[in-house]
Amino acid sequence: MRSISAVAVILFCLASSASAGWQAGVAKVDITPTQTVPLAGYSGTRMSQRVDHPIWIKALVLRGDTGAPSVIVTSDLVGLSTKMVDRIALRALEKHGIPRERLILNYSHNHSCPVTEDVLWLYYDFTPEESAARDHYTEKLYDQYDEVIGKALANVEPADVSFEQGLAGFAVNRRGARPDGRKLGGQVDHDVPVLVGKSGETIMAIVFGYSCHTTALGGLSINGDYAGFAQIELEKSYPGSIALFVQNCGGDANPLPRVRGIENDDQAIELARMYGHILAEAVRQVIAGKMLPLSGPIRAVMGETELFLQPGMPIDELRSRLPEVSGITRREYEHFIRQYQTQGNLPDRVKYPIQVWRFGTNFTWIALTGETVVDYSLKFKSIYGWDNTWVCGYNNNLLSYVPSLRVLNESGYEGTTGLFEYGHRAPYTETVEEQITTLVAELVKQLNVD
Ligand SMILES: [Zn+2]
Repeated sequence: MRSISAVAVILFCLASSASAGWQAGVAKVDITPTQTVPLAGYSGTRMSQRVDHPIWIKALVLRGDTGAPSVIVTSDLVGLSTKMVDRIALRALEKHGIPRERLILNYSHNHSCPVTEDVLWLYYDFTPEESAARDHYTEKLYDQYDEVIGKALANVEPADVSFEQGLAGFAVNRRGARPDGRKLGGQVDHDVPVLVGKSGETIMAIVFGYSCHTTALGGLSINGDYAGFAQIELEKSYPGSIALFVQNCGGDANPLPRVRGIENDDQAIELARMYGHILAEAVRQVIAGKMLPLSGPIRAVMGETELFLQPGMPIDELRSRLPEVSGITRREYEHFIRQYQTQGNLPDRVKYPIQVWRFGTNFTWIALTGETVVDYSLKFKSIYGWDNTWVCGYNNNLLSYVPSLRVLNESGYEGTTGLFEYGHRAPYTETVEEQITTLVAELVKQLNVD
C-alpha cells in the first residue's frame, strides 16, 4: 500500500510540474466575407473583388492556478470602434464571465479587410447597398467574437507558457522629412515578442507581435497583409498550433519598400508575403532557442485617463469654408458643425483606457488604446524591462493616432493632421504623453502593491 501511494505522489508531482500551473485554450474563427464588401483602412470606397487567403479572429485563454481566465483576442481587422468594443466585452462578461480588465482586444490594423460598424466612419461615403454589405458583415462578426472566446474557453487544458523576443527589420519609420531635410530614418522598434503555449511537447499557441502598419497592400482583395502571411506560415511550421498576431506600437511605421497602385497589386502581394516570411522566421528562431518560462497567475488591472484636445475651428469658420472642401475634409467639417448644433460645442477630450497584466512576478503586458507611435513601446520597455515587458497599442477602440510629445511637437500626419479623420476637433494637447505615462505607472503600481 505504502509503495503504491508513493508512486501516486510522484506521478502527481510530475503532472503538476509539466503544467506549471497554467491552463490554456486557443481557438480561431474564419471571418472571411462570403460576399463583396467595402474594404477598410484607406479613405474612399474600395469594393472587394477577390479573396487571396482567409482572414481570422483568434483567442487565447490563460488561467493560472487561481483567478479568472484572461483572454486576448487578435484579429485581421483594421480596428474596432467604441460601440463594437462595448458590445463584444459585454457579451464576454455576461456569457463567459470574462471581466473587462481580463479581455484584451487587439487588431492587426489590416488595410485589406472589410469595413465594420462605425470604424473610421469619416473615410467612406457609402451607397445604401455598400452600407448594407458592411452591416451584414458586422452583425455576423459579433457572433464570431462570441464564438471564438467560447471555443478557446472550451479548449482549455494544462499548459506551459514561455516568452522571448526576436528581431525583424522591415518596419521603417514612415514620417516624412526630418529637420535636416533627409527622408525617414527615425525611431523604430524591431523587437518581435513571442509568447508560446505548449501542451506537453506540442505547441498549441504562438502569440507574436510587431510594431508596423499592415499596409504592404492597398488593392482590392481580402488579405491579412504581412501579418496574415506570417500567421499562415507559422501554423504550417507547427502543425496543430494557432498563431495570433498582435499589433504593437506601429503608428508611425510602414513596411518598406512598398509598391502602390492597383495595377501593381501582384507585386505588392509578393512583398507582403516576403515580410510575413521574415516575421515568421524571426518567430521560429525564438521558438528554437531558450525561452523564459512564465508563471501564473495573471493579475489584471484596467484604468482610464482623459486626453485633452486643442481648440477646434469656430462654427462660423467651418460654415464659411465648407463650400471650398470636398471628400473626407467635407465630411469632417459637416461632423463638427453637427456637433456644435447638437451639443453646443466640440468635445474637448477623449477617454483613454489602458490595461496591464502581470504574469506571476516576472512578466508585464501593457495594452494601450489606438494607433500608438513607437515611442510608447520604447519608453515603457525602458522603464519596466526590455526583456520581460510586452507593450502593444491597437487595442480597444481605434481612437486616433496617439502621438508622443516628440511626434506632436514635430507636427505631421500622426501628431497633427491625421487627428481630424477620427472626428477629433484638433490635435491633442502637450499633456498627451504625460497622461498615458502616469496612468501606466499607477496601474503597474497597483499590481506591485496587491
Ligand atoms: Zn493607421
